[in-house]
Amino acid sequence: MRKKQTTFVKIDQYLKRLHLPAIRDSYREQADLARKESLPYESYLLELLERETENRHNNRVQRYLRESNLSLEKNMETFDLKRLPPTIGMQVKSLLDGDFIDRRENILAFGNPGSGKTHLLSAIAQELIVKHEKRIYSRTCCLLVQELLAAKRDLELARYMKKLSKFDVILIDDIGYIQQGREEMEVLFSLLSERYERGSVMITSNLPFSKWEGIFKDPITTAAAIDRVIHHSVILELNASSYRAEVAKKRKTAKKKRA
Ligand code: ADP
Ligand code: MG
Repeated sequence: MRKKQTTFVKIDQYLKRLHLPAIRDSYREQADLARKESLPYESYLLELLERETENRHNNRVQRYLRESNLSLEKNMETFDLKRLPPTIGMQVKSLLDGDFIDRRENILAFGNPGSGKTHLLSAIAQELIVKHEKRIYSRTCCLLVQELLAAKRDLELARYMKKLSKFDVILIDDIGYIQQGREEMEVLFSLLSERYERGSVMITSNLPFSKWEGIFKDPITTAAAIDRVIHHSVILELNASSYRAEVAKKRKTAKKKRA
């Protein structure tokens, strides 16, 4: 009995030192079970390794979801793909395998306000984190630009860019929604140049490319910015109908019917 106790103490110490908390939590109870069911040693070991791996996956996913800043309620379950043209459904399905990230491709979602751009790209991003353990940094364009400017002001821009380069995808929501000044445009352009062929970006915009000069000010920078994002990209054209407007309309007619 005493010998068994010291064995446990030693095992616990090793598992602690090796950072295997899930195994530490379950090895005794699993050993009892294995003895009871006369399982081979390998099955016991396999069970423990699976538990540790799953635990690590879950922890990593939680951490990545937190750092992504995504709204978790905007996921694939709450998104109605049938509202969009069938080609979009097919495009989305293939994007969910995450291979576009390995190819450093970008996703661009265009459409009217309320057409579901933010929801769809957030949902795709969330799936990529949960299923493929990808690291994603999601911000509205406005907030991202502010972060970039603050970093620049503190002479930390290089360091901030380095931090962003660790992410598999930068999701920039609503590019061009708010009119930016020249300084804002410059840092945004630097970021896009930095990402070019090095890492994916996902962008949503109400503005078609023809209106991007309003974002990047002069025609040369605009052309260069469009070139960089479009070069290896998948374009999702959501312009079916505005979901928000439709729901409002439905509410109105329902109200009328009730009245
Ligand atoms: P956009 O970014 O294009 O302006 P959003 O993604 O913000 O549009 O969508 C507006 C609202 O409508 C959100 O609450 C979103 O969850 C909802 N919505 C839009 N499209 C869909 C859809 N296909 N299925 C479910 N909800 C949707
Ligand atoms: Mg949006």
